[in-house]
Amino acid sequence: MVSTGLKFIKPFGLLLCLQHMIKLPVYLDNNATTMCDPRVVEAMLPYFTQHFGNAASRSHQFGWSADAAVELAREQVAMLIGSEPKEIVFTSGATESDNLAIKGIFETYAAKGNHIITLATEHKAVLDTCAHIEKIGGEITYLPVDNNGMVNLALLEAAIRPTTILIAIMYANNETGVVQPMQQIAAIAKKYQILFFSDAVQAVGKIPVNVLSDGIDIMAFTAHKMYGPKGVGALYVRRKNPRVKLTAQIDGGGHERNMRSGTLNVPAIVGFGKAAQVAFKQMAHDGVRLQDLRNRLEKGLLLIEDTQINGNPQLRLPHVTNVAFKRVDSEGLLMGVNKNIALSSGSACTSASIEPSHVLKAMGFSNERAHGSLRFSLGRFTTAEEIDYTLIQIEKAVAKLRDPTPR
Ligand code: PLP
Repeated sequence: MVSTGLKFIKPFGLLLCLQHMIKLPVYLDNNATTMCDPRVVEAMLPYFTQHFGNAASRSHQFGWSADAAVELAREQVAMLIGSEPKEIVFTSGATESDNLAIKGIFETYAAKGNHIITLATEHKAVLDTCAHIEKIGGEITYLPVDNNGMVNLALLEAAIRPTTILIAIMYANNETGVVQPMQQIAAIAKKYQILFFSDAVQAVGKIPVNVLSDGIDIMAFTAHKMYGPKGVGALYVRRKNPRVKLTAQIDGGGHERNMRSGTLNVPAIVGFGKAAQVAFKQMAHDGVRLQDLRNRLEKGLLLIEDTQINGNPQLRLPHVTNVAFKRVDSEGLLMGVNKNIALSSGSACTSASIEPSHVLKAMGFSNERAHGSLRFSLGRFTTAEEIDYTLIQIEKAVAKLRDPTPR
């Protein structure tokens, strides 16, 4: 018999009551993407019709107003991460930013070396780019993590070679929310004069990220994980101490200071800027509220027999939890609830694969634990009622999956 985490309330009465209060399905997959904030949509709209100009058109008002909007967005995005506006390169998203950073550094610094250090738990946009680099003559060290998902700093330092040109370690993991020690990694990189790149997709706009105090030289992030539109991202490229040089991966009209050619997606960039401005103002408030809701969810889930948290419980994003349910297949659990709750077992890009999560495997967990784990990622629009509803639904679905009587 599965113990109920919500015994203190009458689950079925509560369920009916909650069903009236909330709009189904409940969305708890905010690490895959977030809803566009209505303030962002509103800011974008005039740039499809009224101000539709090409930001590179220098000879008329349409171009000037598009360019002014892009430059305002550049300031808003820079403000969020503590950089100079000129250090922001707009891209089509973080996958492109990750590619530009790693391939661009590899090409530019080829005379210095061909070795890159990264982490086994990186997103595929980094891991697959590194695999490509290996095919074209690069050498990659994939550092392991401990069973909390954390990098081992001694191993990082020991992996450095005279030919190491880049350390690429993510800020926060998309599956577990585990946050890596940026400042300590940066100190090691600085000691050996190696560039430090971070994929900060899941951290920017959610927790304070400051490229100066964090010591990051190059950083990838994207609008659609922070209540902005899809299809626009950025790469922060440091301009001094040290000045980072990158070889463009898309050649053409020389946009974005020759680092990324292609007509700028003005409405999306405007939306990215607005999303950054809103996040800058609201992040602290959202963080506290979401941490409370995440803790409420986690407390309830841990009352279900044989459940465990995956990932460092302290050093984690406030809105994420990854939970292992023993004797449960997460695909079955997802199917059991997905009519009413949008969840995932890990990265959206790999959720179609039946392979166990490479992140959970790298943390030393068995295939069984990896296959029995679900990620819950809350967002700005998540409510307490949705969390309570989710708890009841998950508890019911787990009990059903664990029930040995044939159906
Ligand atoms: N890096 C991380 C850590 C992510 O979570 C994602 C999105 O899932 C990406 C990169 C790719 O971002 P985009 O969808 O903007 O290409």
